[in-house]
Amino acid sequence: MPEEIEALVDRAADLIVGAKRIVVFTGAGISTESGIPDFRSRDGIWSKYDPDDFTYQKFLSSPEARKKHWKLLGTDFWFGAQPNAAHYAVAELERLGKLDCVITQNVDELHERAGNSPEKVIHLHGTMRYARCLQCGKRYLMEEVRKWLAQGVEVPDCPECGGLLKPDVIFFGEAMPAWETAEAQRRSSSCDLCIVIGSSLVVYPAALMPRYALQSGAKLIIINRDPTDLDGAADVCLHRAAGEVMSQIIQRVKEKLGLNE
Ligand code: ZN
Repeated sequence: MPEEIEALVDRAADLIVGAKRIVVFTGAGISTESGIPDFRSRDGIWSKYDPDDFTYQKFLSSPEARKKHWKLLGTDFWFGAQPNAAHYAVAELERLGKLDCVITQNVDELHERAGNSPEKVIHLHGTMRYARCLQCGKRYLMEEVRKWLAQGVEVPDCPECGGLLKPDVIFFGEAMPAWETAEAQRRSSSCDLCIVIGSSLVVYPAALMPRYALQSGAKLIIINRDPTDLDGAADVCLHRAAGEVMSQIIQRVKEKLGLNE
């Protein structure tokens, strides 16, 4: 590890050791190492699909758009993916008693699968775990819905009432979930350290969360491959892949806490 990186890892570990209420904010970049493509990069999802086909309004109005949606959701990268070192490092923060919550833009539930308690994870954009009927509100496990897709159903309807089934994720043009957004703002404003992992902080209102943290005097760590608008305000900024650097940081934290066997 280059000396300069080592110093930043050490500084990040110090901030974590000194913190009591950490809010971790994650975006697509934390899951790319798990094989889930992000949206905006050169090989991202929007290089293969037209984002205009994936708005809430199109989903409601166009059977063709619904077909495309379900085709994209039927692809295996969402469901075969495993948590990576960065997810496990975040779960470790919870075990260490440092974590207030994880606020995530991701719908993959890899934080929970890495060991974070579900009540510690705030999903700003919903999750892929369920599909919901837009007519009667009934929820179905996506695992079940995927079986129907595998059997040749192109656009699944609600078996109860025949209404439209929609994945329980927030589409473009759809309102942000009110409780989650308010809760994320509240938690961000009362943390003492915010760690951004794998987000370029360009999607609003999600990207406001680290700003709320800064405004209330929290420290800020940013780990993202590319620069972000908040780099200048961060106490530590690492332009690296999240998995390796987060496990190094947690390793240092445990050393400092005397927890290494
Ligand atoms: Zn229904």
